[in-house]
Amino acid sequence: MNELLKQLSEASGVSGFEKEVRRLIRDLIADSVDEWRVDTMGNLIATRKGTGESDLRIMVDAHMDEVGLVVTEADSDGTLKFEEVGGFDDRALLGKVVQVGPQRLTGVIGARPLHLLRGDQRNSVVKADNMRIDIGAKKKDEAARKVEVGDPVVFVTEYEELDRVAIGKALDNRVGCAVLVELLRGERYPFDLVAAFTVQEEVGLRGARVAAYAVRPDAALILECTPAHDLPNKRDVSPNVSLGRGASVYVMDANAIQDPRLVAHITRTAAAKEIPFQIRQPGGGGTNTGAVQSAQAGVPVATLAVPVRYLHSPVSMVHLDDYANLVKLADATLRTLTPNLIRRDG
Ligand SMILES: [Zn+2]
Repeated sequence: MNELLKQLSEASGVSGFEKEVRRLIRDLIADSVDEWRVDTMGNLIATRKGTGESDLRIMVDAHMDEVGLVVTEADSDGTLKFEEVGGFDDRALLGKVVQVGPQRLTGVIGARPLHLLRGDQRNSVVKADNMRIDIGAKKKDEAARKVEVGDPVVFVTEYEELDRVAIGKALDNRVGCAVLVELLRGERYPFDLVAAFTVQEEVGLRGARVAAYAVRPDAALILECTPAHDLPNKRDVSPNVSLGRGASVYVMDANAIQDPRLVAHITRTAAAKEIPFQIRQPGGGGTNTGAVQSAQAGVPVATLAVPVRYLHSPVSMVHLDDYANLVKLADATLRTLTPNLIRRDG
């Protein structure tokens, strides 16, 4: 069992409410870093000093927030209305067990049972606006005593491993966080490595923007998840990346074009070390990369990701070989990074 992934997956950290996962990560890295601080937004920024061979300053980012819900109002019947934090497919919410607020009160996102559905109700999609979280309260005031408006709501999903595949909640982006924790525990790099465990990625890359501005790195590596588009396996679906085929290398996403010099360095490194990798098809969603790239006077950026199935739902799936290969590839890429690689000479 990968205890690191298990702990990170099961920790709570809806965007804007990252305290629990931040404290867990702080405790996981405290002995491996030379200094750490938490900035005004809640980003955890830690420095591991280098061996002194290189005066580069390299930032490695992994967002620690997860998609979730937030309570907006207690209804007259004692159920809770909610708003989504981050992008969801409403169909994934019905019938799920959740925990509400800092006391982690158990609730269920209630659904009218099949027995009571008539005609085309059986075929229509229930929108999140019409769903409620049921915490077993009978009336509005009973619910209001237990829960505050604005309380975050997390899904309850136990991390499990099925041979070489793992399932759990918030694997986006606790796998990135776990990789970064492992990098900090390895041998020192030639340069100072600044690890940024950032907040509020899922609502607009907000934490990384602030972190990169403060860190002022010479280059940055963003560790992420990317949707595995390998299911359903119809012949006309061209896979984006597949589970179990290696770490994914970004070349372009919704708000960044990765620095081609760094992309080439990554693929050369992977080939030389015989680390399986797959190029993620350009396009699709954005990552913190865009926010980091345009910080200060600009930062050369690269993005490495673990392919994950069923992203932004209460349970997602990752291949542990992809995870291990991403640790190897990120480490080898950083270890061989030289100032020449990112020098502009015209
Ligand atoms: Zn993510």
